Amino acid sequence: MFILNPNLIQKKEGFYYSCEWIEHGLVFYPSKLTMCCFCSDVKNSHTLIQDNFNGDNFDIERLFTNRDIFRRFHKKAKIHVNCLNCPSLKLEAWDERNYIDSLYISHWTECNSKCSYCYANCHPEEFSNKHYKILNILKQLCTKGILRRNSKILFGGGEPALLDEFNDIITFLLDNGFQDIRVHSSGIKYIDCLERGLKENKIHLVISVDSGSREIYKKIKNVDCYNIVRENIKKYALNKNQNNEANVSAKYIIIPGINDSIDEIEKWISENINAGLSYSVLDIEENWYNENKNNIPQKVYDIIEYSKSRSLENGMHFELYERVKKLFY
Ligand code: SF4
Ligand code: SF4
Repeated sequence: MFILNPNLIQKKEGFYYSCEWIEHGLVFYPSKLTMCCFCSDVKNSHTLIQDNFNGDNFDIERLFTNRDIFRRFHKKAKIHVNCLNCPSLKLEAWDERNYIDSLYISHWTECNSKCSYCYANCHPEEFSNKHYKILNILKQLCTKGILRRNSKILFGGGEPALLDEFNDIITFLLDNGFQDIRVHSSGIKYIDCLERGLKENKIHLVISVDSGSREIYKKIKNVDCYNIVRENIKKYALNKNQNNEANVSAKYIIIPGINDSIDEIEKWISENINAGLSYSVLDIEENWYNENKNNIPQKVYDIIEYSKSRSLENGMHFELYERVKKLFY
């Protein structure tokens, strides 16, 4: 449902409110294609392009048609209810040609971790174990000039180490000049093919740690792999880019009541410094956030501030993922 927002009515010719995913995004999810990746609840696919997608029935015109519908509404300042408070909305003279430059690849759910907050892990009945293939689709999109070489490409998942095509996809992307690839991994299994992209400064690897100790890690992940993950992070971080930076982040999702102590955060930051990482990434657990977003305790803000100052004083870039970002929006 699209709702008129009078604050977004634009009189400037050619300008309207939209986001990069509506304009030029494509998302591969289990059994479906969408335009937006900020709907981790797969039922909440307000930008659905195609349901019952199996990899063989790809039809790019469906994407372009859906995109045009959103554009027509947005030009009249009518915004979908699920987009109303999204920080990605911005006023621009959008390039309305039909191409893709934001790609989210998250069509499989197999994983070697069992994170307590993982939607796929908590609702396995909603996902079949079979996933479709995407390498040939990517090749076609490249050949036709639809997938731009300057695209931002994100891997969600599932665990990439368990995706059968992963090595071939990464090799294809690196061989074909893609330079902005972000991979999310549990870090439990080391993935050799990422080393080249880290050294060439084309891949940023984000490993889900959510803790600074084995005990808390086990409580959240339900697997006893903290030490292995920390060893793998150190090994990845040896692959410095030409700026002598390790494009590796150990991500910490704040889960109030479980890991929201300064003590745990300090251990996490210290381990990151020891590993030689150049980035810190914070997020907040989605279910908790949705229930508490109008009443966030000061403690959460304190943790964010502490993480930020400790990261910056140690020369690390500090990044907030979308839910934490919304707290400051
Ligand atoms: S939720 Fe945000 S990112 Fe997704 S389509 Fe809406 S405005 Fe764009
Ligand atoms: S690492 Fe990601 S995919 Fe795996 S269980 Fe955790 S949240 Fe789910």
